Amino acid sequence: MAPILRFAPSPTGRIHIGNARTAILNWLFSRKSDGSFVLRYDDTDLERSTAEFAEGIARDLDWLGIVPDRVEYQSKRFDRYRAAAEKLKAADRLYPCYETPDELERRRKRQLARHQPPVYDRAALNLTEEERQALEAQGRKPHWRFKLDNRTVEWVDLIRGPQHIDTTNLSDPVLVREDGTYLYTLPSVVDDIDFGITHVIRGEDHVVNAAVQIEIFEALGGKVPHFAHHSLLTGADGQGLSKRLGSLSIASLREEGLEAMAVVSHAALLGTSDSIHPCIDYRELVDGFDLAKLSRAPARFDDNELRGLNARLLHMLPYASVKSRLEHGDEAFWLAVRGNLTVFADVNHWRAIVAGEVTPQIAPEDRDFIKVAASLLPSAPWTGDTWKNWTETVKSATGRKGKALFMPLRLALTGLDHGPELALLLPLIGRDKAAMRLAG
Ligand code: GLU
Repeated sequence: MAPILRFAPSPTGRIHIGNARTAILNWLFSRKSDGSFVLRYDDTDLERSTAEFAEGIARDLDWLGIVPDRVEYQSKRFDRYRAAAEKLKAADRLYPCYETPDELERRRKRQLARHQPPVYDRAALNLTEEERQALEAQGRKPHWRFKLDNRTVEWVDLIRGPQHIDTTNLSDPVLVREDGTYLYTLPSVVDDIDFGITHVIRGEDHVVNAAVQIEIFEALGGKVPHFAHHSLLTGADGQGLSKRLGSLSIASLREEGLEAMAVVSHAALLGTSDSIHPCIDYRELVDGFDLAKLSRAPARFDDNELRGLNARLLHMLPYASVKSRLEHGDEAFWLAVRGNLTVFADVNHWRAIVAGEVTPQIAPEDRDFIKVAASLLPSAPWTGDTWKNWTETVKSATGRKGKALFMPLRLALTGLDHGPELALLLPLIGRDKAAMRLAG
């Protein structure tokens, strides 16, 4: 059976680099295994979820090159969750509780003071039918807890290895709130069963959820998927990224002008045994993908590393892959300037140096030298050899060599002390402009 993966964001905000990493790992797994990829919006929180955020996430994924085979919304599936809740009630695995948040908090404090684990004491299970009716007559509405089996739940995590969690140490989780709305836990399991999800790759903040959810899968008679919980991203300083997530949203990385494949390469290779290097497209990442390469240690995300990777990617992009984005300039221009780009928009800067007005920089002590060089400019047409031939002639005529020969020419021709190889740039600048610039 072909694997079925899913990425399940809550559309209560945009996705950031950490979420994108989860999406990309699921996507890579699905492509590697000829499986399929479900985008599932976890939008049961009707107040905080918006269509704008959902559309934004779809755009972000599309930019990252992820094309879901199926898209689902939890908000359209409440009847399925209701049916599952009824099934759990009938099996005595879902029970009504009437405690207010205040009461629960007081109980928790008492437990802590007695050095007991702050686990829900299941007091509601002992309520008689009359007591329940009395509470409801007071206007209290129940929330519903899943009755854990109090056993050791085991699974072999595809990243973390054998896991066992004793659910005796956990509070029975609330699945349905007082107002009848669902928390994430149950809908996720119902969907994973209904959509035939075979592998769940997600952050390790969900490891404990996995134990609870495995019990729910079993209580509903569903097939338990394979789980793979990856470590979370930290900043370069080792701290969590949470405070900076706004600036690390996929939307802001895109607006900053980063290449999608730089973000993808970074997210896919971070925290793996492979070196982080730029990949031009998904092919290499899919071929090399293996969950076993993921480390359990937190993966350090460093903006500067991402920016460096972006530059390295641009430096190797062939003309064909940027042609449609280049407003001006042909292949020769691209090959000349790509090695000097940090972000793609830098092409405009080099375009201006080639074709626009520049202010030549000619130091007083170089004036005579530049005059001689100008008089020796070869005639058109100019080719890739022009620079070499010209500078050799200038060298013999002036006796200058090395930096003393090349830097004044660069400063006069481009107004800058750095930039693309002049052998490539000079034919693009052309004889007329070059002569003008050398004239100051
Ligand atoms: N909506 C959940 C989250 O974003 C999904 C967790 C899961 O993959 O099961 O954390």
